[in-house]
Amino acid sequence: MPVEPVTTHPTIPKAAALSAAITQWVEKTNQAFAPHRRSCRKWKAPLAGYFSERFLSQCHYVIVPEIPLPDESLLQSVGIESAFFNHVAGLTLDNTYYLLPSVADALNVHFHELIHVAQWQHLGAVGFVSRYLHEWSAHEYHEMPLERMAYALEAAFLEGCSKIDVPEYVRQRLFSNA
Ligand SMILES: [Zn+2]
Repeated sequence: MPVEPVTTHPTIPKAAALSAAITQWVEKTNQAFAPHRRSCRKWKAPLAGYFSERFLSQCHYVIVPEIPLPDESLLQSVGIESAFFNHVAGLTLDNTYYLLPSVADALNVHFHELIHVAQWQHLGAVGFVSRYLHEWSAHEYHEMPLERMAYALEAAFLEGCSKIDVPEYVRQRLFSNA
């Protein structure tokens, strides 16, 4: 029986295994913090016109003294230095985002992380994680398309842009070929 050479596409199974390991960690982390999470429905008035009450009701946030991180070996295998997270005040994991107390009341940070929740919803967990990791390896942080989208929308929000259905806008941007 011929044996398939294992080296044909070495990067593809590795990327898939990493995405699976991360999505497992994401699920475990969200379960562990579930008793402490708060509903984003709280922001329905200030974010009205950008995010529907229905969308916000599906989202949660947790104020944490430290951003939860995968263990060092998992971070290393995706090429992310844990020191990077020294500068991170928020992290979105699926429908839940984690914030340091310093930004707990910063509406633009909630807005930014909710954009990542919308990205997760539209791409699916494995789709989001694999896309994010791919962008991470190919771009500087602020040049990553998923981050550029979030920062651009956050900036527009801060400037008082006219109201748009943000999750729908995100969906269109993710799947347009432009
Ligand atoms: Zn971001």
